Parts: sequence; C-alpha cells; structure tokens
Amino acid sequence: MKTKKPNAELVWKQVDDLLVPRLRMDVSDRAAYCYLLRHSRLEGKLVLRFSMPWLARGICLSTSAARRAVRRLIEQKALRLVECSTAGRVAEVLLPEEILADHLKEMASRPASVVPRASLEEEDFLRTKILREAIHAREGGRCFYCLKRLAASSRCLDHAVPRSQWGTNSYRNLVSCCLECNAQKGQCRAEDFFRSLFRDRKLTESELAGRLRALDALAAGKLLPPLPSAAAPPKTPALPASSRRA
Ligand SMILES: [Zn+2]
Repeated sequence: MKTKKPNAELVWKQVDDLLVPRLRMDVSDRAAYCYLLRHSRLEGKLVLRFSMPWLARGICLSTSAARRAVRRLIEQKALRLVECSTAGRVAEVLLPEEILADHLKEMASRPASVVPRASLEEEDFLRTKILREAIHAREGGRCFYCLKRLAASSRCLDHAVPRSQWGTNSYRNLVSCCLECNAQKGQCRAEDFFRSLFRDRKLTESELAGRLRALDALAAGKLLPPLPSAAAPPKTPALPASSRRA
C-alpha cells in the first residue's frame, strides 16, 4: 500500500527529540524502529514485509536482539503487527506523530516554564492543573494500567502506591488511568492490580511484563513528566495548525 512520503527532516527531529525520550527507547529499539521506518514510510509504504534476519543484518544486531526490539516496538504501539508467519512479518510502521499524537497536542498547548528541575522531586503533582496534565501527558493518552486509549473526559489520576499505604503525590507515584481501573484498583498495590488485569485477560503476558517494568521505572524516577524545564525538549517540532489545541 503506497502512501504520501512524510517530511524526512521533520520525522528525524521528532524521533530524536520526542519519540526516543518519551518511549525510553534503548539503542536497539531505536535502531530497529529507524531501519523499519526508513524502508516503509520513508519509501511511501504504510506496511512492510520483513524477516528477522534481514532486520538483524541491517542494524548489526543478533537475530534474538532484533526480535526483542520488535516485540518492544509492538508493545509501545510504534509497530502494528499485521501478519506473522514462516514467510516473515508484515507490520504497519507508525510515524512519531502518530505514536505520540495526544502527547504532541498537549505539549503544543503548554506554557513555556512550569517547575524548576531541582524542585521536581518535592513537587506535589496534584497541586495545579498544569502539573496534573503533565502526568496525563507522560502516559501518552493511555491508561497506565490497562493501556486503553483515554479521552480527556474519561481519565483520572491514581496513586500507584495507595494513599492509605503512605503513597505520595510525587510524579513517581501518580499515574494517568481510566475511570474503570481507578475504581477497580481501590486500595490494591499496582503490581497486584496488573496481575488481576492479566488474569482477567485485559493484559497479555508481554503487556504485563511491560507494565511491571514501567512500574519499576516509575518508582525509580525514570518516568519524568514532560515539563519544559525538566524533561521535555524546549521546542516542539511543527504540528499542523489544525491539530493544535486552543
Ligand atoms: Zn484502565
């Protein structure tokens, strides 16, 4: 399927400035994504048929490392697997702006400076709307627990470690989630809630593993909310005017 070729310069900037830091891509994820993007969307093709040895050769990694990278890209919704057979894989490769659509819109509407980096650790992220929005933006428009896409009207903030267990209002403990997960989780700890979602088949095994890793990263302070003076890049690559929020 042929599609319009994107602006490669803009795509490159969005990969470096937004996608890699937002998705916490490591070098192999990044190499795999860029290689697949280069052979699909930059050639005007929406989907790409490829084999794992071909990808591994192209990015100078072992086949197993390439396979792990592809698995993570699928988990992060950067790739949509259309077909997987002995003949190879067919995947839709998403552009950075498609992966981060909600995130980019929120960044475009945010004021220039909010919280100094030094005070980030002490900040109460329930204190102002901008801080609360930063937590929602960090999750990229998806429920932290069940990964469901969220509308602004159906999302809320939740404490990964409940308040009753001394959970704080830090960015290391607050997450954006759907109303259903918020109600179901109650006083449960996040790791237990993830396992209950897996048992209820709302998360796959690989999604569960990914969520548990995200929870560790959250507690370790690796999931910084996108505040311009802290974690977000100073400039947002241009978006179409029609997609900006008032
Ligand atoms: Zn949810």
